[in-house]
Amino acid sequence: MTEIVCSGCGTDEHLRGTPTNDGLIELTCDACRISFTRDPRPSCPKCLGFAMEAMPQVIVEKSRGSQMSIQGVHREFMCRVCDADQIAVKRDGHLPQRLGGSQ
Ligand SMILES: [Zn+2]
Ligand SMILES: [Zn+2]
Repeated sequence: MTEIVCSGCGTDEHLRGTPTNDGLIELTCDACRISFTRDPRPSCPKCLGFAMEAMPQVIVEKSRGSQMSIQGVHREFMCRVCDADQIAVKRDGHLPQRLGGSQ
């Protein structure tokens, strides 16, 4: 996640966000009283596109021997362009081959 900081003074503590009509967030800095807008949509760090999809990720931890315990699920954004194969694998409900193999 990218941290939102004031483009004027660099603080992240005095920012107030207001959604605007065009889907952006207008941020106002209480410290230096400037306001700027930010696109809240997640963007791909590889192609900088906005074709992102929220994929539930299961957090699994190896505990004691070979037992796997599920720690939780969080949503991760994946790019429909760059991560297309991974998204397809998750959609199909199959584990990637390298995790399903023996040893
Ligand atoms: Zn500021
Ligand atoms: Zn991408």
